[in-house]
Amino acid sequence: EALLDVRGLTKSYDGWSKALGDVAMRVERGEFVSVIGSSGAGKSTLLRCANRLIDPTQGSVVFDGRNITHVRGRDLRQVRRRISMIFQHYNLVYRATSIENVLQGRLGYKSTVAGALGLFSESEKRRAFEALEQVGLADFAYTRTDQLSGGQKQRVGIARALVQDPLLILADEPIASLDPKSSRTVMEHLRWAADELGIACLVNLHQVDFALEFSDRIVGLKGGRLVFDGRPDELDEDT
Ligand code: ADP
Ligand code: ADP
Repeated sequence: EALLDVRGLTKSYDGWSKALGDVAMRVERGEFVSVIGSSGAGKSTLLRCANRLIDPTQGSVVFDGRNITHVRGRDLRQVRRRISMIFQHYNLVYRATSIENVLQGRLGYKSTVAGALGLFSESEKRRAFEALEQVGLADFAYTRTDQLSGGQKQRVGIARALVQDPLLILADEPIASLDPKSSRTVMEHLRWAADELGIACLVNLHQVDFALEFSDRIVGLKGGRLVFDGRPDELDEDT
């Protein structure tokens, strides 16, 4: 069975217009799927429904064999532990160091972490350091994240996602604020997580070239509708 199975997903924010209309798509375990489409196409809405940051208006979301469309409270927090998020603007705590931000992946995103290293066990700290090594930032583990470049900040975001031991990483425009070189590095690290760690990635992109290069599969959205679902080599430039 698919890791993520979305069916008939419809979302209306205002009660009449549809940000998403009857979208069906799946993500297999370890698969790298890009979602492409212009601004307003519904990409963020799809991701936010997938981890239930927002409730869909209609349709269902099945994750890891479990229907999560209506789960709440503790059950929802349990589901979210296996789904990591990566954001366009990184969502780091800038007065905290890289390793503190990575450890935040263990605590949940709302916690304040500056100076909180003492709260963690040696094995948790080792794991966080290992994740920073995996994204090439071992030398910056004890650097405050406001000192890092955009690409480095996003790699801290990836390390924070990895320490959650997720089954799925949801990345909402992770390279939209980065130059081409940093963008490529970030995409390579996500691709590595899929290939080497078996973590499925669902990545919103408006750069079609990166989607073509890095994805196993591409999902195209337009005006909230699914207009394409296939391999990169099947994508017709017109869609
Ligand atoms: P994107 O980065 O996907 O293009 P925007 O930058 O337009 O999205 O939106 C930034 C924030 O504003 C998001 O949190 C989104 O939920 C919210 N937003 C977007 N469109 C609207 C809208 N029409 N009404 C209210 N909030 C919106
Ligand atoms: P994308 O990520 O592809 O840019 P979004 O999912 O952010 O698309 O937006 C899809 C549509 O939903 C847009 O018309 C946007 O204005 C609207 N929208 C997004 N977030 C909100 C929100 N919080 N409130 C109202 N409308 C929203």
